[in-house]
Amino acid sequence: MTALDNGPDDAASDILREKCGVFGIFGHPDAAAITALGLHALQHRGEEAAGIVSFDGGRFHSERRLGLVGDTFSRKDVIERLPGNAAVGHVRYSTTGGTILRNVQPLFAELDAGGLAIAHNGNLTNGLTLRRDLIRKGAICQSTSDTEVVLHLVARSLRSRFIDRFIDALSQIEGAYSFVGLTNKKLIGARDPLGIRPLVLGEFNGCYVLASETCALDIIGAKFIRDIENGEIVLISDKGIQSIKPFESVAPRPCIFEYIYFSRPDSVVHGRNVYDVRKRFGAELAHESGVEADVVVPVPDSGVPAAIGFSQASGIPYELGIIRNHYVGRTFIQPSQAIRELGVRMKHSANRAIIEGKRIVLLDDSIVRGTTSVKIVRMMREAGAKEVHFRIASPPITHPDYYGIDTPNRDNLLAARMNLAEMRDYVGADSLAFLSVDGVYRACGYAGRNNAQPQFTDHCFTGDYPTPLTDLIGESAKQTISMLAEAS
Ligand code: AMP
Repeated sequence: MTALDNGPDDAASDILREKCGVFGIFGHPDAAAITALGLHALQHRGEEAAGIVSFDGGRFHSERRLGLVGDTFSRKDVIERLPGNAAVGHVRYSTTGGTILRNVQPLFAELDAGGLAIAHNGNLTNGLTLRRDLIRKGAICQSTSDTEVVLHLVARSLRSRFIDRFIDALSQIEGAYSFVGLTNKKLIGARDPLGIRPLVLGEFNGCYVLASETCALDIIGAKFIRDIENGEIVLISDKGIQSIKPFESVAPRPCIFEYIYFSRPDSVVHGRNVYDVRKRFGAELAHESGVEADVVVPVPDSGVPAAIGFSQASGIPYELGIIRNHYVGRTFIQPSQAIRELGVRMKHSANRAIIEGKRIVLLDDSIVRGTTSVKIVRMMREAGAKEVHFRIASPPITHPDYYGIDTPNRDNLLAARMNLAEMRDYVGADSLAFLSVDGVYRACGYAGRNNAQPQFTDHCFTGDYPTPLTDLIGESAKQTISMLAEAS
């Protein structure tokens, strides 16, 4: 979901800055309470705001708040204000104060066919272009989010059946989307033609559940049924489940970053356990860029599985040489660079007893701006490390994401600005190595990247964007680029 913040101080400050999680359930008397639990399991996908919309057979009810899921939805009075046996929910993440309550999802609109609530994980790459066009034609936007564009497109469709109007809307949007929607009759799930962001279907006490990740099924004891497929729309009603694939069928290209950083390690994404894949990233890295050392130390929590994999493949003992303070939000949640740096220091401490006098293999999942890396390597030196060999369980991130992951623009991506030796010197390590692109694919069970038909969306590492970036070309480009520059 892209948001254009049009507040006076930080115009567009949260554009292209969001990653989100979605959940939906149909046919359960405690729909809202179960949705709250599902969102709690998806909290890592969005820590900034949460919302639930329920339907009680007659009316829709909506509660949307800034803050963590538990801050709002653990309260009995809030859940009681969300009656009904169907609900959809959303957790939202963005990096700045630009988030405003009216952007918090699910978004809801009264259409001529009845109410529609929609929650979106992903980002539309023509959202700004469509939005500008709609506004020019007289649309009045309540939020500054591109998700609202979808509501407008459904509302304006000239088709009569809801599903045809929804398909009409989807056929006009580009980019990444996993939607859950709720009408007065149906729970809807939809994935973009490439299946960039995940969406799974589960079953709980005879009811269907949709969620961004399987960890949200596990928390309520739901059974995983299957992934919603790329380009698939599912309609869940009293009559059961209906699946349609209205678009030309193309090979799926799920986002590789779900394995690298995004998803929770206990989730199964596209048939692979995330923890397992991350361990294999570490093992591949040990094979590609092994080094003589005394101890393998992860940057917790994101580097832990890869460090275990590296240790097992190399035979170098694994130790917790860095302790993480769990009472601090994710590093990226802090708006400015200065605060981000402070956040890193608050978050990690060296375990001197493990580090002192040792040659360390330091493992992290990725380098984005380099902020974490500089701090952590310095921390290792200050704790007496003899050598610091920094290993990154993903390739260099050279290109920004436009599909719903929080990455800065190119100028702020360390690997877009520097070569390997420069990065090594910048972070202050004795050696630095990244996992190769083929290593990533091998860890996922392929012989390597199929360049003719890549199995994943991996533009962050390759610059190969799988959809048009309409908002970055033509009339939209100037506006988008200036927003991106301001936002970084
Ligand atoms: P940086 O300090 O800017 O290089 O960021 C790298 C750290 O941020 C790594 O430790 C990652 O675990 C984490 N990270 C990577 N991608 C993201 C993301 N999209 N959102 C938040 N954190 C991230």
